Amino acid sequence: MDFLCIMILLHLAENTLDLWLSRRQVKVYKNSKTVPNELKDVMKVETFEKARLYGLDKEQFGTIKQILLDVIVTTIEMYLGYIGYVWAKSEDVAAYFGYSADHEILVSCIFMFLNSCIGIVKDIPFKVYHTFVLEERHGFNKQTVGFFIKDQIKAFVVMQVLMIPIISAIIYIVQHGGDQFFLWLWLFCGIVGLALMTIYPAVIAPLFDKYRPLEDGPLKKSIEDLAASLSFPLTKLLVVEGSKRSAHSNAYFYGLWKSKRIVLFDTLLLNKGKKEEEVENKEDVGKGCTDEEVLAVLGHELGHWKLGHVTKNIIIMQANLLFNFLMFSYLFKFDAFYLALGLPKGKKPILVGLLVILTYVLAAYNVVVHYLMTVLSRKFEYQADAFAKELGFADKLKDSLIKLNIDNLGFPYYDKFYSAWHHSHPTLLQRLEVLKEDSKKKQ
Ligand SMILES: [Zn+2]
Repeated sequence: MDFLCIMILLHLAENTLDLWLSRRQVKVYKNSKTVPNELKDVMKVETFEKARLYGLDKEQFGTIKQILLDVIVTTIEMYLGYIGYVWAKSEDVAAYFGYSADHEILVSCIFMFLNSCIGIVKDIPFKVYHTFVLEERHGFNKQTVGFFIKDQIKAFVVMQVLMIPIISAIIYIVQHGGDQFFLWLWLFCGIVGLALMTIYPAVIAPLFDKYRPLEDGPLKKSIEDLAASLSFPLTKLLVVEGSKRSAHSNAYFYGLWKSKRIVLFDTLLLNKGKKEEEVENKEDVGKGCTDEEVLAVLGHELGHWKLGHVTKNIIIMQANLLFNFLMFSYLFKFDAFYLALGLPKGKKPILVGLLVILTYVLAAYNVVVHYLMTVLSRKFEYQADAFAKELGFADKLKDSLIKLNIDNLGFPYYDKFYSAWHHSHPTLLQRLEVLKEDSKKKQ
């Protein structure tokens, strides 16, 4: 059996697993008919039914998209040598501008550009359907067609502007880095990663969404007090107008070292305290959290910081990256990988090598790492909940979790395998259970 067959079989195996889990979850959506006891008082039967239909719709849409794009299109592409074809076209484009195929950095940039364009063509029908049909039908879409188009173009341009210099540098490092090039590559990617984490919120994110400082008032005061009590180096407190994009709500913090910012989605605060006639959209009446609930959410978020979860994740990711590059440095000279992707004998572009080794050769390893990271993430979530509970937020955190879940039409029931595989957070019921246990212990 040649390498191409193995790659295709692995690809199909991974998709089969995903589709099987999805089937299980679809059954849960179809068969769950009653509100769980824990939510009886807060979740109306109509809301439960809405959440059920929304979840079912999303899951079935995901299945169709996966079958069409990943199972059918990608498999055919692999079989027909699509990568080799796009590479040949990239060389043609370079030749058109008077550059020979030896200019590997230039050809790689053209390759990446063409590949992104084709990717958009494949993806856009699904994005349009997802935003304007699926989310719209369930009352979550807030994007106009104009906003959507601008948003997509901006994302494409930003991606190209970032990726072209990064890819050029990566190829240069592999070409000139000597035997230990994987170390230089790792160092470079580590620095780029940190740089992106620093500039992304300040430079890139504002291109897509509007940020404003949280207005002075009791909420701001209490968040500042909470941050100060934990010695969290809060430098800015922002509200992002997430409700233009979608009505899903959240809060997060970012920033390196001693300069951190907290961002609240305006959907989190949306209509708290507003009267019915002040709310723009009828469906949004009563959504959002009270000040105490927002504070409890931040107690959880700051728990992630205090417990070093972000740092731990960065360290694990860097170690993983080093391993990936080390494997790449061992494997990238093998002819079989390139031949399997449809490149002519002897042609071994570095970018294609990275692609094939990181996505196909190391596929099984990466699936395992991804799963372990999901398990770890859930552990961190429980720890952050416990931290918020220590601060005395247990009840308010429970209320806010329920509130956010209902605002976002989250469904309370999940298949256990589906959840174990996909969920970076424990489910609502699991979190409520632990918060309840904890408060009992204290009594
Ligand atoms: Zn969390």
